[in-house]
Amino acid sequence: MRKLLLFTTLFIFTSFVNAQNPNIVFVLVDDLGYGDLGYTGAKDIPTPNIDQLANQGTKFTSAYAVHPFCGPSRMGLITGRYPHEFGAQFNLADNSSVTKGIPANQRMMSNMFQDAGYRTGLVGKWHLGSESQYHPNNRGFDDFYGFLYGGHRYFPAEYKAAYNGPNSWVYNHPLEHNGTIVTDDDEYITDELSHQGVRFINESVAANKPFFLFMSYNAPHSPLEAKTEDMNVDVIKDIANLDRRKYAAMVYAVDRGMKEIVDALKAKNVYNNTLIIFMSDNGGSLKFAANNGPLSGQKGDTLEGGFRVPTFFHWPNNVPAGVNYDYPITALDFYPTFAHLAGATIQPNKDLDGLNIWNHVVAGTNARNDNEIIMSVRHDNASNRVGIRRGDWKAYRLNNNQDWKLYNLKNDIGETTNLSATNPTILSELKSAGAFIVKDFAEPLWFHSTNAESAWNNNNMPNFEATFGEALSIDDENMFENSRFSFYPNPVKSKINFTINNANSNMSDVILYDLQGRIIQSIQNLKQDKNNSFTLQLLPNIPNGVYMAKVKNSKSVFAYRIVVSK
Ligand code: CA
Repeated sequence: MRKLLLFTTLFIFTSFVNAQNPNIVFVLVDDLGYGDLGYTGAKDIPTPNIDQLANQGTKFTSAYAVHPFCGPSRMGLITGRYPHEFGAQFNLADNSSVTKGIPANQRMMSNMFQDAGYRTGLVGKWHLGSESQYHPNNRGFDDFYGFLYGGHRYFPAEYKAAYNGPNSWVYNHPLEHNGTIVTDDDEYITDELSHQGVRFINESVAANKPFFLFMSYNAPHSPLEAKTEDMNVDVIKDIANLDRRKYAAMVYAVDRGMKEIVDALKAKNVYNNTLIIFMSDNGGSLKFAANNGPLSGQKGDTLEGGFRVPTFFHWPNNVPAGVNYDYPITALDFYPTFAHLAGATIQPNKDLDGLNIWNHVVAGTNARNDNEIIMSVRHDNASNRVGIRRGDWKAYRLNNNQDWKLYNLKNDIGETTNLSATNPTILSELKSAGAFIVKDFAEPLWFHSTNAESAWNNNNMPNFEATFGEALSIDDENMFENSRFSFYPNPVKSKINFTINNANSNMSDVILYDLQGRIIQSIQNLKQDKNNSFTLQLLPNIPNGVYMAKVKNSKSVFAYRIVVSK
């Protein structure tokens, strides 16, 4: 929500310092289906180690990736922003001639951890730029072992032979460690990555530093390549479909890696001071034998199966154990939440689209108020796929030629019954909230293919007018042209006044937002005191800080930054 944050450069936000400064191990798997873990319902994929961690932690049943594809999902996760806001809404093309990457001015959580005194490591997939200035070692990671592109093949003998042959596909590129090509990789890649995660943990403990480990497994992303021994374990060996059997074996290998990670944490006596997060970067691909369980849709969709993903937190004695957290959260929430846990400073010019959810997760309360949405937008050739979640409600549009649909996910997790006709106001509110966010989206800095680029240019994309209609045309063009508007005093103690030249209305609505876009106070139909002048009493419990006041009357919308200083 960049517009809301335009005026915030004076404000320095420092989270609470957590005395423990926990280690953080973030395990991101690639294209895992919502229903493809034991604890999420899989009967044909044994994941005992993942299940144990999940069941001893807090399981998020409504956790969302930022985007239903790999690259933009990761770009959102690591920057804490909708990637569309800085032109990163498409995958980087999977070829070694790509010269683009996340712009240097987009600060990553790895930078935040480094500045807070953490040792930072990335193991596995990057996919956020391969040139030097975009390389993980230049984007906040002290240690990087893995590959720079969108995926990789799994067996060293096969990818090394292919790379040295005519097929220089990036999935065959050599692995690297801090910019140096690795030659001694001789294990199935999931196992290799797990061992490297253990190495990083051991080195970090030896260095006596808190650490952030980003375990970025490419499994179970295609190509489907599994170890024979994993395909022959109980349950998996009975799967009739060969692709599903390979997929299950690939997930099983990740589960083995999770045990190695946990064993390493215990061996170094840091298990009790480590937050483990497990998540998938987007929904499973049905073409590659994933199962999204009760959810409709798959990777690439803005139905739930595209971006609602299996997710849990585990931290003994700090994260509630054995509970579900059913309120919606998004990967955008992790940057501010981790900053809170790490005692890190969020830079004054850092825009964030998520929330620090920590205290709500611990308390089991909703981190979002009744007005806050979680959204995913995927550009699809000449149109947009959109999903907007608020509370139990989900607004969905497949493309500009289909009508908006509205689902109540509490009763209808599979998105089967369209309730838009009976709840038009709710649909309208969700569309308006989504339109407010997409107005900040930027032109793409890159496309995953020349076809995608042609489609964008030939169809006047992003073409949000066709997607959001009237919701997009709500007049906020003059939100920041405040010449007809004044607000005083500023700083504000308890009462603020504003005047609107030619108010055209003797009533106004006023909404106060905090810097994360949360509504702090909302007043409907505030009456004029005298000519064009209004007085608003602030709620007594509003903390000192910087807020945005949005004032709306029948003709116009205005916004103003106010500083509350009591
Ligand atoms: Ca993915």
